[in-house]
Formats: sequence, C-alpha cells, structure tokens
Amino acid sequence: MNAALSWPCAALPGAALADRTTMHVGGRVQWLLEPANPEELARAWNAARERGYLPRILGGGANLVIEDGELDGVVITTARMRYILRPGHSEDPRGEWTLRQDPLPAAMEDSAPRLVAWAGATIPGLVGTATKLGWSGLEGLAGIPGQVGGAAAMNAGGRWGDFWDVVESVHVLDRHSGVLRELPRAECAPSYRDGGMVDFVVLGVVVRLVKRTIPEVEAKVRDYLQTKRRVQPVTEWSAGCIFKNPSPELSDGRSAGKLIEDAGAKALSRGAAAVSALHGNFIVNSGAATAKDVLALIEDVRQLVRSKTGIELVTEVKVWRASDIVRG
Ligand SMILES: Cc1cc2nc3c(=O)[nH]c(=O)nc-3n(C[C@H](O)[C@H](O)[C@H](O)COP(=O)(O)OP(=O)(O)OC[C@H]3O[C@@H](n4cnc5c(N)ncnc54)[C@H](O)[C@@H]3O)c2cc1C
Repeated sequence: MNAALSWPCAALPGAALADRTTMHVGGRVQWLLEPANPEELARAWNAARERGYLPRILGGGANLVIEDGELDGVVITTARMRYILRPGHSEDPRGEWTLRQDPLPAAMEDSAPRLVAWAGATIPGLVGTATKLGWSGLEGLAGIPGQVGGAAAMNAGGRWGDFWDVVESVHVLDRHSGVLRELPRAECAPSYRDGGMVDFVVLGVVVRLVKRTIPEVEAKVRDYLQTKRRVQPVTEWSAGCIFKNPSPELSDGRSAGKLIEDAGAKALSRGAAAVSALHGNFIVNSGAATAKDVLALIEDVRQLVRSKTGIELVTEVKVWRASDIVRG
C-alpha cells in the first residue's frame, strides 16, 4: 500500500468499510476516494484507471455485503456528493453540470416540477424534499435507505413504484471512456431491481414529479412508512432484500420472502447473522456478525429453498469479494 500516492480528491488508505454499509460487515479497502462533486469523481475515476485500478462505487451500502479482510484496489464513495437542487430556485454549486437548461419559469415548473440530485443525496433526503414541496412521484421510496446513485443503479422501489418511474435523465460517467454524459430516460433500460447502469457511474439524476398538495403527499409517505415498519426489520442492521422475487409463473406468485418462510428457512442463522423473524428475505446482524456468517447464511437459505421447491433464488444484494477483479 502506498500511503504517499496522491489523488485528485480526499483519499483514505486502508479504510474500514463495515460501518459504511447498513449490514455493518466487511473489511478494509486499499484506497477509499471521497470526491465532493461529480467533476471530482470523474477525475478520481480517471486517476484510478491511469494507475491500473478498476474502482468500485459505494453509495449508502444499503444493498451490499462486503467480504471480510483486505480488499485490493480502489473504492469511490459518493457520500460527500449530497446536493439536491430545485432548478431555478436553489443556489447551484456547480452551475454548468447540474442542468444544462435555463432555469424553469415558475409557470412551467407548475406543470413539470423537477429536482436534480447528485449521486450521494440520500433517498430519504430526496423523498423529504419532494414531500415538503408537495411534489408527488417519490412517495413509494419512503423508508428505503441509501443514496440516489444506488437507487438508480438498483432501480430501488417496491409495490408502490420504482425509482426509474420518475427519472427524466441521468448524468453519468462512462466507465470505459471516462467521459461525462447525460442519458435521457429513453436511452436507458431499467428493469426489476436493475437500473441497467453497468457501463456507467451515476453522478446525478433529474427527476420529474407531479404537483399535488403537501398534505396529500405527506399522507402517502406516512402510510407507506407505517406499512414498511410493520413488515420489514427497518431498525435492525441488514442489507435489505437478499434475493430477487422469482417470476410469478415459476413461484406460483410467491415472493422470495414467502418461499423462504414456507421452506422453514426463517429459523436459520450463522453466528450473529439470522434470517429476520419479521421478513424472510432479510438477514439481520445482531451486532457481531461477519461477512462470512452472512454469506454462508445466504447459501444455506438458497439451498433450503432449492431443496424444498426446486427454485433457484437469485441474489439481489451485491457482494464485493476479495477475489473480484479490481485491476485492468
Ligand atoms: C432496511 C432496508 C430496507 C430496504 N428496502 C428496500 C426496498 O423497499 N426496495 C428496494 O429496492 N431496496 C430496498 N433496500 C435496499 C437499498 O436501500 C436499495 O437497493 C438502495 O437503492 C441502495 O442504494 P445504496 O446507495 O445504498 O447502494 P449501495 O448498496 O451502496 O450499492 C448497491 C449497488 O449499486 C452500485 N452503485 C451505488 N452507487 C452507484 C453509482 N453512483 N453509480 C453506479 N453504481 C452505483 C454499487 O456499486 C452496488 O453495486 C432496503 C435496504 C434496507 C437496509
């Protein structure tokens, strides 16, 4: 490890990653880069590429399990890129990047209100901003942790809608050329829990919402939050849903959580990692779990469901392994 290596943004050598995820497991990475804005992220990315690294991108770590031990290479976190802007109203800290269009006249904003959020803005922060304005479209994401870049990459959502439903365009860095681009929604192909961003780093998004009243939007958010708190272990350490729901034809309409429950896998645990008693598709860390526990438990659950139903559950949660290719 070369602690003297200089980077075009804040950088931590040997950074611990566990507490940067909601599961709170995992080891250290050789370099953690912390750009403060999209241009800095692009410079950090290109500097890492010039040095032969293939950086990993860390958002809120809310759908991620990181292996224990030492991870080689570079992780770029978007945690410092937190701006949410209301075009034409908010002070724009980076003028030219945020929206390549003139401020919207008030009359137009009435019919097409938009927010611009940098990748590191939190999902609750974006939902909260829209709620305070009485702008509808993001309520279905109430209670989902993580950041906007992660929400775009994962197409976060649920029964009340998905993030990409309201995305008008994304500002991205092309992972191959290192060049910044703006992709209109029509050029993107998000699907269930997959934003289709494999060739890109998301720098920010423009979301287009609908004007309603503040009480209307607040009521929906409250309602969805209450439901979420009832059915998911939102106050415990977890990484959200571990598995994607299989196609209804395959599973007779049963969700991954229901398949896990029906297979008796809710009783499973490994060390301090256990399948949640509240929701079968969540694994919770009671405090001292390691990534090894969590990853072994994921395989135990997959195996039990396979043996009882013949269905092979596919992982939704992302796993960073020490063996991943991070140089090239
Ligand atoms: C209690 C709890 C409840 C949850 N409920 C839901 C739910 O209802 N619905 C749902 O969909 N999810 C849910 N999740 C999962 C999680 O909140 C979402 O997947 C969220 O979008 C992850 O965002 P993140 O910033 O934390 O991404 P991370 O976990 O940091 O990253 C996830 C993946 O996205 C990639 N990524 C992150 N940022 C970027 C970027 N800027 N550009 C390109 N790639 C990027 C990462 O490299 C990684 O592959 C829940 C999680 C928890 C802990």
